[in-house]
Amino acid sequence: STMPPLLSAIANAGRHGVLAKSAVVMERLGQVDTVALDKTGTLTEGTPHLTDLRPLAGAGLTDEALLALAAAAEHPSEHPLARAIVGAARERRLTLADAVDFASVPGQGVRATVDGHTVHVGSPARLLPAAAVAAHAVVRELEEAGRTAMLVLRDGSPVGVLGVADRLRPDAAATVAALTELTGRPPVLLTGDNERAAERLAAEVGITDVHAGLLPQDKVAAVRGWERQGRNVLVVGDGVNDAPALAAAHCGVAMGRAGSDLALETADAVVVRDELATIPSVVRLSRTARRLVI
Ligand code: ADP
Ligand code: MG
Repeated sequence: STMPPLLSAIANAGRHGVLAKSAVVMERLGQVDTVALDKTGTLTEGTPHLTDLRPLAGAGLTDEALLALAAAAEHPSEHPLARAIVGAARERRLTLADAVDFASVPGQGVRATVDGHTVHVGSPARLLPAAAVAAHAVVRELEEAGRTAMLVLRDGSPVGVLGVADRLRPDAAATVAALTELTGRPPVLLTGDNERAAERLAAEVGITDVHAGLLPQDKVAAVRGWERQGRNVLVVGDGVNDAPALAAAHCGVAMGRAGSDLALETADAVVVRDELATIPSVVRLSRTARRLVI
C-alpha cells in the first residue's frame, strides 16, 4: 500500500471495529501506559434491568405506583438506568404522567415535576438524608447483592428504592488481562456507582484499583493526577458523565452502541463494533504503526 503508516493504521483500526478521529490518535493510543475503565456501559453491557421495587413503609405507594412515578420522571433521560426504569414500566403497561421541568445532573440522577410533585430519582449517596434509616437499610441490602440502588424522593421525602442489575460484558475479563499485559499494570475502575457493587464487579474481572462514587469532575481529577505523574492515560467510557474525563485524558475512547452523543463527540476514537476486546487490539496495532514511522 502507498498509504502513510499512520493512515493505514487508522484503516486497520477500522477493520478491528474502532473508528479513530485522526492519525494523531493512533500515535497517542500507542503511548498509553495506564487504562481507566468506566463501569456501567463499558465493563458492563449497559442494558441494566430492573430487579427490585421497594416502596418504603409510610409513603403508601404500591410497587406499581412507585415504578410509575419514577418512570414518569426518568422518561426524558437517555441514561441506561433511566431506560431500565422506563422499560420496566412499559412491560407492565403502566400509564405514565407527563413530567415537566425535567433536569438531569450527570453522575447523580434526575429531577422532574410529576402530577404537581417534585420527584428526584438518583444516587442514594447524593440524595439520601442521613435520618432516613429505613431507606438506608434497603439501599445497603440491594448494594450488597451487587445491584445499583436508586432512591426515589417525592417532595423531598424518600418514598422508595429501585434496584437494577447489569451483565458484565463477556469479553471483560479477557480485555482486562490483555490490557494488563500491554501496559504492565491492571486497568483502574472509575465509576459513579456505589462502592459495594463496583468492588464486586471489579473482583470478577481482575481489577483491584476501584474508585467509586465519583462525580464527572472526580473522574477528571483522577486522570489529571496520573498524567501529572508523567503517565499517558487512556480513558474508556460511554456516558455524559465520562465526557470530561475522555477530554482530559491523553486518549479518550467511547463505546459506540451505548454511548451518549456527548461522549461520542468528545472522544478521540469510538468503538463501533460493540466489543471491549477491540481496545487492546488497537493499542497493539498503533504500537506497530509507530515503529514503522520511527
Ligand atoms: P457510571 O460511572 O457507573 O457509568 P454514572 O456516573 O452515570 O455511572 O451514574 C452514577 C450514579 O448516579 C448511578 O449509579 C445512579 O445512582 C446515579 N444516576 C445517574 N444518572 C441517573 C438517572 N438517570 N437515574 C437515576 N440515577 C442516576
Ligand atoms: Mg457509564
